[in-house]
Amino acid sequence: MASKTYRICTLPGDGIGPEIMAQAVKALEAIGRAYDVDFQCEEHLIGGCAIDATAAAGRTPTALPDETLEAARACDAVLLAAVGGPKWDGAAPGQARPEQGLLAIRKQLGLYLNLRPVRVYPALIDASPLRPERLKGVDLVIVRELTGGLYFGAHERKTDVAGAGADGRPGTFCRDTMEYSEYEIERVVRWAFEAARRRPSKRVASVDKANVLETSRLWREVAHRVAAEYPDVEETDVLVDNCSMQLVNNPAQFSVLVTENTFGDILSDEASMLSGSLGMLASASLGDGTALYEPSHGSAPDIAGRGIANPIAQLLSVELMLRYSFKMDDAADALAGAIDDVLADGWRTGDIADASTPADHRLGTDAMGDKVVEAFEARAAR
Ligand code: NAD
Repeated sequence: MASKTYRICTLPGDGIGPEIMAQAVKALEAIGRAYDVDFQCEEHLIGGCAIDATAAAGRTPTALPDETLEAARACDAVLLAAVGGPKWDGAAPGQARPEQGLLAIRKQLGLYLNLRPVRVYPALIDASPLRPERLKGVDLVIVRELTGGLYFGAHERKTDVAGAGADGRPGTFCRDTMEYSEYEIERVVRWAFEAARRRPSKRVASVDKANVLETSRLWREVAHRVAAEYPDVEETDVLVDNCSMQLVNNPAQFSVLVTENTFGDILSDEASMLSGSLGMLASASLGDGTALYEPSHGSAPDIAGRGIANPIAQLLSVELMLRYSFKMDDAADALAGAIDDVLADGWRTGDIADASTPADHRLGTDAMGDKVVEAFEARAAR
């Protein structure tokens, strides 16, 4: 019997989801064998497939069935692939939509922090729209507050407001409110400092707009207070506009970036472009309970069912799960290293291949999964 057991709620979802999830499950079996851990994967429905299954069973169609949520809560971690597709795009207002499943599960699990690592793989440096010399050494993590700020503050819309239209005529007026309390900031900032401590380069850039926004001034105060408890970690304050510019100009200067919800949303998409391919980016959403790990890309319906999807973002989601939910850093390093090895040896799925990739190094989803497992086993045996 294995020395440890972890229960993982797997949610393949729609489109390429089942194809890439199969590679994650295969990798987990290999990791379990190498590290004497029994990963018990329980598959459940989310997204479009859940809507279809609940409707077929004569229930109210939903993208997040109760049994999925219960399983997610009961497991040690949730591994999601992706949801959505053209079949459900035409849903009328009020009808269930796949993405509601994602929003609901994040909310129900109380996930208040999202982290997205961005690494530039030397083997793929030409896939980025940036010049290679700007990308050397890029290895950063964006830590984003997920449940506060503008997206969750009070929203208001009023019509026929005197003076809100052109030339002093009545018009429409809207207001979105940005709200943060000290504890919401502190738990995220503290997490960023803890993460920085575990990285070779112990630096945190706290991103705000403290020259204009009161919430940002509070953010900065809290960041400084927390920083005082981490003398081994270097803290800098960066204004969000400058940060956006620096991410393109000199991204290698950053290690851990921590910021509020809206800034993080925008900066993490900007940073994702550094790596050049959506198929290579994973993210983790963490809270006080079960954490959720998923690729940053969608369900890629245009290539679903063809066995050509890149499973690496899904495998990197497993890496994050090993690191943050199971504290298995050695296994996470070995999996990340295996992906490096496979790429360095020139193996490519279609999305990351180029004209220089020989035909015999172009792999489908399954074969790429096998290559990574093989490289992982070679590393684990060393
Ligand atoms: P997408 O990320 O699914 O696809 C964008 C492009 O990238 C497509 O050409 C696709 O083939 C390619 N691509 C994405 N992942 C890939 C992979 N692993 N390997 C190879 N190529 C890959 O984004 P989209 O086309 O805007 O959305 C498609 C569906 O996914 C929509 O229904 C959307 O709502 C949904 N979506 C879901 C999530 C999620 O589940 N978190 C996120 C974004 C979009």
